Amino acid sequence: MTSTDDVLARAEKLCTQRSVRLTPQRLEVLRLMSQQVGAISAYDLLDLLKESEPQAKPPTVYRALDFLLEQGFVHKVESTNSYVLCHHFDEATHTSAMFICDRCGLVREETAEGVEEIMHLLAAKNGFALHHNVIEAHGLCQPCSEVETCNSPDVCEHDHSITVKKRGR
Ligand SMILES: [Zn+2]
Ligand SMILES: [Zn+2]
Ligand SMILES: [Zn+2]
Repeated sequence: MTSTDDVLARAEKLCTQRSVRLTPQRLEVLRLMSQQVGAISAYDLLDLLKESEPQAKPPTVYRALDFLLEQGFVHKVESTNSYVLCHHFDEATHTSAMFICDRCGLVREETAEGVEEIMHLLAAKNGFALHHNVIEAHGLCQPCSEVETCNSPDVCEHDHSITVKKRGR
């Protein structure tokens, strides 16, 4: 995991190179994002932002997020409608695979080079013009799968009160 200061310094440098403005508000949203362990929804982000900017409204957050998405600093997690910091945003554009824990919400990003090639091959076979891949995998992170397979909930030190989020519909 990269530290917040490091993330902000790298982002500021890239914005200078690209001649785009990292306004104090955008910077603050990026700072809050960099402190999340997993993904965060726009509304939870708004609550955090209100601590330093009580005037903040949903459009404030969405505008900042749009900018951060455009610059590749964050990724959108489509299936949970949330956002997560990209941990290698200063590398060239990449397809990432998101591994999403359905129990604790942790999101782990892995670059997915081979997968991207396969998607392009499949697209080409069907004459499909592929613009953008979203790869999201659901399951349990390591600590959570440990808890889920635990057979002694009365004597262990796990938190068994969290249950796996059922995916609705
Ligand atoms: Zn990324
Ligand atoms: Zn988990
Ligand atoms: Zn247990």
